[in-house]
Amino acid sequence: MNKPRRILVVEDEEAIRTGLIDVLVFHGFEAESAATGSEGLKKALTGKYDLILLDVMLPGVDGYEICNRVRSEDRHQPIIMLTAKTSDEEIIHGLKLGADDYVPKPFSIQQLVLRIEAVLRRSQLGQEMARTLCVAGMEIDTENLNAKRDDVEVSFTKREMEVLTYLAQNSDRPVSREELLSKVWGYARNLDIETRTVDIHIAKIRRKIEADSKMPEVLVTVRGAGYRLLVEA
Ligand code: CA
Repeated sequence: MNKPRRILVVEDEEAIRTGLIDVLVFHGFEAESAATGSEGLKKALTGKYDLILLDVMLPGVDGYEICNRVRSEDRHQPIIMLTAKTSDEEIIHGLKLGADDYVPKPFSIQQLVLRIEAVLRRSQLGQEMARTLCVAGMEIDTENLNAKRDDVEVSFTKREMEVLTYLAQNSDRPVSREELLSKVWGYARNLDIETRTVDIHIAKIRRKIEADSKMPEVLVTVRGAGYRLLVEA
C-alpha cells in the first residue's frame, strides 16, 4: 500500500482549518496544520510535506512570504495557495512566487481535492523524469549519480550531474558556456578562466558517456553557440 501523502495546511481561520483537515483525512491524506504565518513558515521549512496548502491572508507572515521562503529553499515543494483575492494581479503574484496552483475562496471541496491530486501528479511525474536521464544508451540515475555502461558502473560528480541535467532539460537547443556558468555554477561574471571550467567538466562527462570522447556524438559542440545534449525520447 502506498504511504499516505502528507499535507500541511496553513490557515488562520479555525473553521476553515479544521474543515480542511477533516476533508483531507477523509480523502486518505495525512494532514498537519498551522494557525499562524510564523508557525506555518517554521513547519514548512523544517517538516517534510508532499504538498502545502497555503492561505494568503495570515496574521504576521503572510502566505506570499511563506511561499517565497519555501521556494528559495526547495524548488520542488508543491504549493497551492488559497486566496480570497481573485484579482488577476494577486493570482499572478502568487504564481510568480512559485505556487503551483491557487484555489479561490470560497472553494468547493471537490474542486480543491481535484487540484491537490493534479498538483501531486505533476510533481510525481517531475520527480520521475528528473530521476533518470536516458543518454547515449545509458540510464543515468541522477540521485545516486551513477549509470551502467556495458555492465560497468560509471559514476558522476554532483556538478557533472547538474550540467547533464541542465543540458537535458534544454536539449532542444544549444546552451552557451556563459549560461551554464550562470545557471549551474551560479556565477554572474564571465571570465575566460571560468568558461574553461565548463569545458573541463564537459570533457570529463564526455569521457563517461561518449564511445569516443574525441568525436562526441551525444554531447556535441555547436560552433559559436555552445553545447547540446542529444537525449533519447
Ligand atoms: Ca486567512
